[in-house]
Amino acid sequence: MDIILFGIQGSGKGTQGKLLAERYHLHVFDMGSQLRSIIESGTELGNKIKTIVEGGHLVDDDTVVEIAESFLRGISPDQSVLFDGIPRTQTQSEKLEALLKKYQRDVFALLIELSQETAIKRLTERRICPTCKAIYPGFYKQDVCADDQTPLVIRQDDSDLESVKQRLSHYENETKPVIQHFYDIDRLIKVDGEQIIPDVTEEMIEKAAYLFT
Ligand SMILES: [Zn+2]
Repeated sequence: MDIILFGIQGSGKGTQGKLLAERYHLHVFDMGSQLRSIIESGTELGNKIKTIVEGGHLVDDDTVVEIAESFLRGISPDQSVLFDGIPRTQTQSEKLEALLKKYQRDVFALLIELSQETAIKRLTERRICPTCKAIYPGFYKQDVCADDQTPLVIRQDDSDLESVKQRLSHYENETKPVIQHFYDIDRLIKVDGEQIIPDVTEEMIEKAAYLFT
């Protein structure tokens, strides 16, 4: 069983996804890291993506799905996958579902639910370590990174409320209809993301358990 992980920025999706993957031995397909490593490869596709990303644009649906397919080709049929960062749009969702069908894979969506209000609060309060890029939530009270003692800073695009709101509205407009689709076909697990982090993890692990037995 494959899982598509959904969650607004600030929901802790990345961290929770890693824990879910560890618990159920899922192979993580993280679109962001995939794009970064393809860019680093310096191939023709890498250069194409680099131009798109550096221009501040989103990579087109066909390219995104192409990357997912080349990943799936290398995965054994009995290895479960956790998709993070794909699909972001309805077109991507339709194409990804068709792809999973083609490879005879079964999929469920898991949503870490968080209100826009809480997301904005968390995003504008969080700080980042300039050295190791670790992200620290508002409740972390030290001023330096726990790993390397570098003073923490607020990321520039997080300090600007308008840019945070803009990122969230993309999710609202493009990704929410995709989540609704999985709800409509009875393939959506919802986890309450307003809770403290360990409780989110516990609820998620518990609710996903039946998919992997
Ligand atoms: Zn650090």
